[in-house]
Amino acid sequence: MPELPEVETVKKGLELLLTKQQVIIEISKSSKKLRNSLSLRQLSQVKNQKILKIFRKAKYIIFELSDYYIISHLGMTGSWRIEDEQRKHDHIKIHLNDRRILTYNDPRRFGVFDIIKKMDWLSDSRFTHLGIDPVLESQFNGNYLFKITRKSKKPIKNFIMDQSQIVGVGNIYASESLYLAGIHPMTQAFRLSEMSCHRITEAIKETLFNAIECGGTTISDFRQAGGSKGYFQNLLLVYGRENKACNFCNSLIESQMLGGRNTFWCPKCQKV
Ligand SMILES: [Zn+2]
Repeated sequence: MPELPEVETVKKGLELLLTKQQVIIEISKSSKKLRNSLSLRQLSQVKNQKILKIFRKAKYIIFELSDYYIISHLGMTGSWRIEDEQRKHDHIKIHLNDRRILTYNDPRRFGVFDIIKKMDWLSDSRFTHLGIDPVLESQFNGNYLFKITRKSKKPIKNFIMDQSQIVGVGNIYASESLYLAGIHPMTQAFRLSEMSCHRITEAIKETLFNAIECGGTTISDFRQAGGSKGYFQNLLLVYGRENKACNFCNSLIESQMLGGRNTFWCPKCQKV
């Protein structure tokens, strides 16, 4: 499943593809449903609307138009590309005034393609309960994490994956970040010192920014906008390495389900 770095990478790819402001001539769709479904009338609302900007909110990619927002979520297997050729699993085609066609492809169809009026943005439940964004918001630091963890008895791994607290730290990045920080994933959040919180926020930023630089992971079917594969997977230090030697101390990496998700850590390098 695309996590925050993959979505950020796709967003950057779309920005590169749409350097000049484009006008939407029309949007067409396949007969198959995505996670939501738009009527032809809803699609026709955005005819002749200019694409002013593309930005990311948590794992949503937002196209800001003159009067509307287009909301795109890649689900499990979604991807965007510019290409005239029709491929299997193409669901949405945005025809632009320079005659290029921006196509959304999604084999498993868990993605979202929605259109909302700008005035409905603040009340849209998808965006009202989101936590801080470690990549976009500079106040994400050790002091901030220390403050928000004081009352939580949750394991820190579950806490940093809670989207209402921090957005975009998916399962892979949570294990990687805590390994880098030297903190055991099962440590109860409120027990962390301010210094430990500082190590965790720095590790989260380092992990996410590294992954963005590499274009995201190749776990699952993620493709960057434009079609090439990300390669962060090659750099994973702890995720998926059960019973393999830790790169720092040679201990065997351990693994267990935590909050229903596979979790990996080094028993020696990571302290409770
Ligand atoms: Zn180790």
